[in-house]
Amino acid sequence: MADQVTRDEETRTHGDGHGPPDKSPREANRALATQRADISSYEIVTHYFGQAAERLGLPDDVAALFHSSYREVQVQIPVRLSDGKLHVFSGYRVQHNGARGPYKGGIRYHPEVDLDEVRALAELMTWKTAIAGIPYGGAKGGVNIDVHQVEDDELQRVTRTLMDRIEKVLGPTRDIPAPDVGTDAQTMAWLMDEYGKLHGHTPACVTGKPLALEGSYGREAATGRGVVYMFREAAPQLDLTPSETTFAVQGYGNVGSWAARIMQQLGARMVAVSDASGSLRSPTGIDAERLVAHLAGGGKLHEFEGAESCSTEEFLESPCDVFFPAALGGMIHRLNADRLRCRMIVEGANSPTTPAAEQILLDKGVLIVPDVMANAGGVVVSYFEWVQNLQHFRWDEREVNDRLGRIMRKAFREVSATAREQDVPLRVAAFELGIERVIQAARLRGYLR
Ligand code: NAD
Repeated sequence: MADQVTRDEETRTHGDGHGPPDKSPREANRALATQRADISSYEIVTHYFGQAAERLGLPDDVAALFHSSYREVQVQIPVRLSDGKLHVFSGYRVQHNGARGPYKGGIRYHPEVDLDEVRALAELMTWKTAIAGIPYGGAKGGVNIDVHQVEDDELQRVTRTLMDRIEKVLGPTRDIPAPDVGTDAQTMAWLMDEYGKLHGHTPACVTGKPLALEGSYGREAATGRGVVYMFREAAPQLDLTPSETTFAVQGYGNVGSWAARIMQQLGARMVAVSDASGSLRSPTGIDAERLVAHLAGGGKLHEFEGAESCSTEEFLESPCDVFFPAALGGMIHRLNADRLRCRMIVEGANSPTTPAAEQILLDKGVLIVPDVMANAGGVVVSYFEWVQNLQHFRWDEREVNDRLGRIMRKAFREVSATAREQDVPLRVAAFELGIERVIQAARLRGYLR
């Protein structure tokens, strides 16, 4: 499995969101350092799973069982778009492991979605729910669509068709989708409505719904809030106090923008930020709330006044205490990890750091709080939403946030204790803990002797 690290030699030449690459030698070298790694999210998860399985001494056949998916569904989504043509998208739902409860995981809409990526994200969900100690298995879904290229009603038709084609494997006691990249509360409302047409009103069939449709207070901000809870737990190790902390955010969508706003409420200063359209930096600070308002008003990130528009390299090299990856997988890789000038990374995104990059960063003494624990806030509050829906009851936001804090702190302390005992990085400890809990559940069910 360790061989996979050496595959991180090249970087992708597409999909970084910064336009087509310039092929001139000088530009090509610069581009290599900034684009996504050519190691897939699945290879990244395979590496980390393999490392933990080896340390746990799992026999190969048992490791193969827990690494592979229980069910993988791929469906055709034909939709006639405004150009008059029939476009056929691919929809996916992968259920990785359900030993600890119903499958749970987001649905991603992005042009690069494929079975391999969804499979990786589903497996991460299995370990994540186990580490957080919430009663779910792991799943993920997606459609290979660019949401920026279609109208709202077209997106609604794609979403309803997806539900029609996968509803048989979903439901509140089977598998409960939630938002991810490219999907939001509106997408969840369409999914719930379509499921309701077939099964009757069933709010607990998806989470991350709008408040007006039995969503939970605190769900929209939950992943970003959870990321900040993790920062607060880890901060004393580096003698960081929130009010004196500087941070950078890669990806200013749901997770990144909420993490930034909550960090700012604690008195921390955002000194660099990026999204698919560009990057900004300012040593004196970028106002996270004003940036959200600017983007909501239709502005582009790099047009924001009060900070300097900069290149991706300059963004990566901005000195800061904490770096929050909150975009896509494989964005911190062998060719750019050395450029980061931070002391801590808290992974809001899934699989943002390749194994080779992680090694470079650990060697530099950077503390990495890994995705499988750091970004669990979303699924934890999704769990609260599901619990509230099943009881037709609603908690206030304070109760949601307090309960979220308790679960995130417990997960951090349990993983940290394992890491200390075994003298391993947090990621290794987190995977070990998650895998052990899933195997224990599988044994108790009688799946494994
Ligand atoms: P989102 O669609 O709201 O935001 C994604 C952001 O990434 C956007 O700002 C986009 O412009 C930016 N981006 C895309 N390509 C980029 C590039 N090359 N450079 C810089 N920025 C780029 O998605 P989200 O829900 O915030 O999810 C972000 C990450 O967090 C994903 O990896 C997702 O799997 C993970 N995550 C999300 C949740 C959740 O509850 N939404 C939960 C756990 C993990």
